[in-house]
Amino acid sequence: MQQLDHLSSSQLRLYLQCPQKYQFQYIDLIPKTFRASALAFGSAIHSALSWFHKAELTGAKVSQEQLAKIFETDWYSQKADEDIHFKDSDDDMKLVVMGRELLSLYQRQPQRPQVKGSEIPFVIPLVSPTDGRELGINLEGYFDVIERDDTIVEFKTSAQVMTSFDIQSMMQLTAYGYAFKRLYGRPPKGFKVINFIKNKKPRIEVTETRRNDEDYEVFFHLVEQILKAITEGIFYPRAGFWCKECEYAHLCPLWQRKSA
Ligand code: SF4
Repeated sequence: MQQLDHLSSSQLRLYLQCPQKYQFQYIDLIPKTFRASALAFGSAIHSALSWFHKAELTGAKVSQEQLAKIFETDWYSQKADEDIHFKDSDDDMKLVVMGRELLSLYQRQPQRPQVKGSEIPFVIPLVSPTDGRELGINLEGYFDVIERDDTIVEFKTSAQVMTSFDIQSMMQLTAYGYAFKRLYGRPPKGFKVINFIKNKKPRIEVTETRRNDEDYEVFFHLVEQILKAITEGIFYPRAGFWCKECEYAHLCPLWQRKSA
């Protein structure tokens, strides 16, 4: 039986996407041999945005060139440390230019978030919102941004526009709303997903959404079931488009059988 002391929303998402990959990554702790360029790009954008908001909160004026330099520094340090795998349509130069352009677009947006805090970590016990039942583990994570009016902002990078169904079914937002309510004793005002779309014509799309108490109860129930499955050692391969970028495909029983 596997003992856990915490879960994060990315762990929960990974278990739902592919329990076998969850096992490789979080139970067997197998090091990854490469990093997908989309993940490295998203991480460099996040680092630059976090630096930007923290600088602005101190009253500093940040130029477009300074922000671009922060992005490039993170990008190239990931490239130096890891083997980055590029998708067919991507290459190093293209992503660097795209990152600079998207960050410049963000800086010039008239309706940027009114930032109260950036990259705020949280650790809270997982407790049922209706009957107070405790799961005995914590939910961990961090809010990308909390706005002055208590809106939770989440940054995403993707090659496509996210549909309203994508946004409505983002468990990460429900997890953050649940955490916010437990931390501060009041619900967040709402949620904003700011999507940095990296296609031929880079653009930024902002979508607002909400969650309610029923969503938090469903979330708690889902976490309870995932925790039960993990502690009972239920791990199985679940194939999908995500297999193309799976760092453990060479170990996966499904793909080994296919290649055999
Ligand atoms: S290759 Fe696909 S099915 Fe196998 S572990 Fe990776 S994500 Fe899961």
